[in-house]
Formats: sequence, C-alpha cells, structure tokens
Amino acid sequence: MAYNDNQQGGFQRQMFQGNWKCSKCGGEITELPFEPSPERMDQLMCRNCFREKRQSFGGPRSFGR
Ligand SMILES: [Zn+2]
Repeated sequence: MAYNDNQQGGFQRQMFQGNWKCSKCGGEITELPFEPSPERMDQLMCRNCFREKRQSFGGPRSFGR
C-alpha cells in the first residue's frame, strides 16, 4: 500500500507555458492544458472563449438559422 501512495493522490495536469493569441477575442494566452501544434495556432482560444464555445455547443440555437 505504501508503494502506491505517491501516485494515487496527486494527479496533476501538465500545463504548457507560452505566448499565444486567442483567435476569437485576441486576448493573450500564456498557458494551455495541451501543446498546440503549429497548424492550429490560428484556432487557439483562451479559457473564456473556450468555455463559451463549449456552453453553446449542443444547444439547438446554434443550428437554428
Ligand atoms: Zn478569447
């Protein structure tokens, strides 16, 4: 039991530090939970925009008109 103690409690997410720009609001992005690939640099979104997108996703309104 003592062996696994270290791995069980702390699962930490790796964050990538950098200097990017949000494609939506133009805000600065200094931290990402994933490593962005060069081809997707123009698709990066800051946390706010990402959350907004996720919230509107799946709503019937997005396909309304
Ligand atoms: Zn943004």
